[in-house]
Amino acid sequence: MLEQIHERDERLAHHRDHLEQEVTARTAQLRLAKEAAEAASQAKSEFLATMSHEIRTPLNGVLGMNDLLIDSGLTPRQHLWAEAAQTSGRHLLGVINDILDFSKIESGHLELEALDFRLEDTIEETLALLAPAAEAKGLELAAQFVPHDAPLALRGDPLRLRQVVSNLVGNAIKFTEEGEVVVRTTLLTLSEAQAEVRIVVEDTGIGIPSEATEKIFEHFSQADGSTTRRFGGTGLGLAICRRLLALMGGRIRVESEPGTGSKFIVDLCLPVARTAVPVPSTTGLEGVRVLEPGARRPGGDGRPPGAR
Ligand code: ADP
Repeated sequence: MLEQIHERDERLAHHRDHLEQEVTARTAQLRLAKEAAEAASQAKSEFLATMSHEIRTPLNGVLGMNDLLIDSGLTPRQHLWAEAAQTSGRHLLGVINDILDFSKIESGHLELEALDFRLEDTIEETLALLAPAAEAKGLELAAQFVPHDAPLALRGDPLRLRQVVSNLVGNAIKFTEEGEVVVRTTLLTLSEAQAEVRIVVEDTGIGIPSEATEKIFEHFSQADGSTTRRFGGTGLGLAICRRLLALMGGRIRVESEPGTGSKFIVDLCLPVARTAVPVPSTTGLEGVRVLEPGARRPGGDGRPPGAR
């Protein structure tokens, strides 16, 4: 009897040793496979970043030359053709810039600046650039700052923040046929060291079905299959926004109701500026209506789209 128990224990110990060896070997194999996959993904992102750069340089040359051509006394028909080439070229440059940004972020090569800037200036500059596009579609573009009398000086990357806001407002204009696009900036909390702000971009456009509200933040992803056909785009803009904001320690989400509109909400916590930020010499928001702090949506009832 004792001998049998002893034999069984030996067999069990042997099995255990064998199992441990097997687990160690498998773990090592998995680690190698994971490292290989990560290296391949990194190499792919680096390849994309280099390629995008190589394509961008000659494309800028083509656009520059075509610009000169447009002003070289062409016949009206030739002018039209050269303008069409310019529009396509600019669109292509936008797509390449998005791919370059996305692959830079994915490969961990995107570095954010730490500059002192005034949040209000950044939002106003972005809106001033997009006002003609809103006007061309007959849309009202409005801005609201709460509080409105103390422009907030922060420390961060104003160019990248501008890229986020520009993407959101550009989308809002693209997906809205009538009504307005409102950008509300609210200071949520302020301490000596940092400020918590919320930037909301709200439109009265086509809206987003609830099953797509997370999907649209993935790369190359659009709300539905007909979007590219109807509106163009690559589905990279929001993926870049979410990643840029994550790098800044911020967040983005959307509330929307199809047929009523969408509301993109950005929450961001940034250090306050270390130095006084000079007020820009050219202020003014041509084509943008500035709403009083208490004002509700010009055409709506003040409730978010989802609540109407
Ligand atoms: P793109 O606009 O190039 O397709 P984005 O990543 O910026 O890529 O947007 C992804 C998708 O999210 C869009 O294709 C569209 O389906 C949806 N979307 C984004 N913004 C809005 C908006 N304001 N209203 C309705 N749909 C939107």
